[in-house]
Amino acid sequence: MRSEDAPAGGRIPLAEPTLAGRERQYLEECVRTGWVSSGGPFVARFEQRVAESAAARHGIAAVNGTAALHLSLLATGIQPDDEVLVPALTFIASANAVSYCGAHPVFVDVSPDTWTLDPEKVSEFLERECEWRPGGLINRASGRRIRALLPVHVLGHPADCDPLIDAARRHDLRVVEDVCEALGASYKNRPVGCLGDVAAFSFNGNKIVTAGGAGVVVTDDDRLAERVRHLSTQARTSPTEYFHDEIGFNYRLTNVCAAVGLAQMEQLPDFLANKDRITARYREAFRDLPGVTCMPSAPWARSSNWLFTIRLGGTAAAGGLVERLHASAVEARRLWCPLHLLPVYRKAQAYRVEVAEAVYADAVSLPSSVGLTAEDQERVIDCVLAFLSP
Ligand SMILES: *Cc1c(COP(=O)(O)O)cnc(C)c1O
Repeated sequence: MRSEDAPAGGRIPLAEPTLAGRERQYLEECVRTGWVSSGGPFVARFEQRVAESAAARHGIAAVNGTAALHLSLLATGIQPDDEVLVPALTFIASANAVSYCGAHPVFVDVSPDTWTLDPEKVSEFLERECEWRPGGLINRASGRRIRALLPVHVLGHPADCDPLIDAARRHDLRVVEDVCEALGASYKNRPVGCLGDVAAFSFNGNKIVTAGGAGVVVTDDDRLAERVRHLSTQARTSPTEYFHDEIGFNYRLTNVCAAVGLAQMEQLPDFLANKDRITARYREAFRDLPGVTCMPSAPWARSSNWLFTIRLGGTAAAGGLVERLHASAVEARRLWCPLHLLPVYRKAQAYRVEVAEAVYADAVSLPSSVGLTAEDQERVIDCVLAFLSP
């Protein structure tokens, strides 16, 4: 992966995995025992480990985080033509999972204090723009039923869940947490993943913990857990008969992926400690740069610090910094284009989205691998400082 002509030290990736635990041992066990496909002992162990980390009673593995989100939404009863409130600033998978259900995302702005779903704007939308009619809470603009909130703990920083969940309860909405970037994060000392009705984690290659690719749905609700498992296994009703009572999905995880995921989960405390150290160093390095601000950190939040992100505040163009870093073999990237601005979601409703667009305009994420060395981090910092204060 390292490029030959890169400066001394080589290319510094944005977020690459560290495979320093029992990955090889567990993979060899898969080969030795013949358990390489879906099913197998590592799947259950991985599920249990992830559920424990979120203080949830159930964990159900899936092929990736997007599938885990899709299953979470289906299991909470999202129906075609329902609407789900989604933050405008997130990876597109959050909204696509809603679309897979035949439902529609309504994009709400994020808060400047967290860059996640803004509880005030959510409440305001529900109170001013919606009304109770037979059949539920109806969005006046579309005539469709609002069924759920989908808070996303963007960049690993938890959304302000107490007021969000309070608003959801007052309006009879389900809460599906997108915890794909936030493994190990907590909100007021409660781990994310157990705050709403159900939550979906991702173990993609660039996440804090990887399984190669995987997702896990966590929930405390027995019925929901059963429903997620049922839907993920082609809705098969019997282990011996091929009888299916509805159209399900083949979203099962393989034992090989679960083996990697379990070995990675065993290193989670170390990974989080590394992330804290990396984040603290970046914050210190950029503290005195006029105009530049670091990603938020609310006093009640324990972030997983997935990708350390700065805002340039008009000091330079985000795209320019990304290009300059790439030229120095440092991988950096801008945040996601707010979803209501994408052609596929142009017709979706966007409610008072301002902050998401402002953050997107000048934010840049910097290398944040759990294995980022102090030396490589200094190189990143030097490149950023050289660009911003030449
Ligand atoms: C990574 C991610 C997903 C999707 O996870 P995959 O495992 O890549 O399918 C969903 N939502 C958010 C916010 C993510 O960052």
